[in-house]
Amino acid sequence: MLRFYFGPMDCGKSTLALQMNYNHGRQGRRGLVLTKHDRSGGPKVTSRIGLDSEAIEVVDDLDLVDLVRRHGPVDYVICDEACFYTVEQIEQLADLADHHGVDVYAFGLASDFRSQMFPAAQRLFELADEISRLQVEVLCWCGRPGLLNARVVGDRMVRTGEQVVIGDTDAALIRYRVLCRRHHRAGDLGEG
Ligand SMILES: [Zn+2]
Repeated sequence: MLRFYFGPMDCGKSTLALQMNYNHGRQGRRGLVLTKHDRSGGPKVTSRIGLDSEAIEVVDDLDLVDLVRRHGPVDYVICDEACFYTVEQIEQLADLADHHGVDVYAFGLASDFRSQMFPAAQRLFELADEISRLQVEVLCWCGRPGLLNARVVGDRMVRTGEQVVIGDTDAALIRYRVLCRRHHRAGDLGEG
């Protein structure tokens, strides 16, 4: 099975990914945890509530079928930040599910700061057996459910630029905010 869990930042994706890894591990199942561009900046899955796990960093030319083969018997793979993988790697996840008996749990954003879908997320929507929207206590400043990620430079929301820029690091002037659809479309950060 290939499953995709999506939602905006801070909706608890990484926390659920770690919880799932823990639950499977307790049942004696063998798994791998993969990530890309985790907020820690290293090969780790970290969650805002303080859980973390060592993880394999997914670089663009990493073949995920090969990776699983090299790690011997693998029952399941947890893929955090799957929105940043390549489309080819999403195909490889489907291969793992179909031809290698691996359960794949992919987590990620659906759309970027312009509210347009990441190519990898789009492929997951097309291929996954199960798709779930996560909505865990992430609200826009107005109190509506947070659905979309806004990129903020200084005190302004921007709509142009590279699709992937990691924010909230020391060097970055960019940060992200979760907004409801209405305020994302209006570009209203509720700060003025
Ligand atoms: Zn709002």
